[in-house]
Amino acid sequence: MPGLMDAHTHVTEGQRNWELELSYLYEDSAYRALRGLKTAQVLLNAGITTVRDVGNDANYAAVDLRKAIKQGWFTGPTILTAGKIIGPFGGQSNGASVEMGPYWRFEYIDADGPDEISKAIRQNIFYGVDLIKLVADSSRSHYTLEEIRTAVEAAHSAGLAVAVHVVESEAARNVILGGADSIEHGFFLSDEVLHLMKKKGTVLVGTDFPSEHLVAGGQDTPENAKVLGNTIVERLRRAYRIGVKMGFGTDIVVDLPNKTRADMTWDYLAVWRAAGVPAAEILKCMTTNDAELFRINKQRGAIVPGLAADIVATPVNPLDDIEAVRKINFVMKDGKIVRRP
Ligand SMILES: [Zn+2]
Repeated sequence: MPGLMDAHTHVTEGQRNWELELSYLYEDSAYRALRGLKTAQVLLNAGITTVRDVGNDANYAAVDLRKAIKQGWFTGPTILTAGKIIGPFGGQSNGASVEMGPYWRFEYIDADGPDEISKAIRQNIFYGVDLIKLVADSSRSHYTLEEIRTAVEAAHSAGLAVAVHVVESEAARNVILGGADSIEHGFFLSDEVLHLMKKKGTVLVGTDFPSEHLVAGGQDTPENAKVLGNTIVERLRRAYRIGVKMGFGTDIVVDLPNKTRADMTWDYLAVWRAAGVPAAEILKCMTTNDAELFRINKQRGAIVPGLAADIVATPVNPLDDIEAVRKINFVMKDGKIVRRP
């Protein structure tokens, strides 16, 4: 098969729980880059040959990681990176005390109104990002249609796609009508909004969490995790039935005991199976769909003459059982064998 892809990673993150703020307070960019290298290599070895890293990488640590791998200093997957996440004042740090000050700016750019959004995008482009990541509804004051349009215009004119963190339907409408390329998460999207995504060609990167990850990472009580888990399965089922274009993306930021990041990535497949998505469709989401969303489909994502030789193999047919990807035992990256049986 072509090498597999993950549209929503945070390779430099790896906490024991969901208090992401602790990483801003205790971990510098160099440490984060080194963790990113370790995680990226684990993923490549498992057959994930391209990742799209959507922010939370300290001071552009994933940009440095991408450069180091590109220069051949280390073996690693192709990395696309979003740099600092752009959002309304406060980043994703709801409820911080006034005395702490805007400490989230280690990881986020506060950008309110079109002018600040344009400036934030220029800053990210200056520091070498491959895409723009916005967070639209972490604050109760969502990004407006005008703000999304400004971001999309600025990013697209520089050749970059726009990925937007959205959970609820209300903010999602602005994101879709504003022309963003993908909605990340979208756990609570209504059928009406999913139809609108289909019409506009907005890709859903559902980050469809297995509920046991939410419990084990301390995000939720078992009861709440089960409810959210069921909501995610149902949303994935509805999106697939409606025919929304989808990419495969995980959003792992917590390391669980006795599991590698690759093991955790494959755990998401149970959710896709539960939602009734056929194996061939899941593989498409993990290869050609992701490559198109990443704007690299002329270089990667299929086994075709002229494309990079990112090729993986497994002794069991993944079309019969998608779980076969856990057994990938051959990985070739850019024509070089990384792993053989
Ligand atoms: Zn994320």
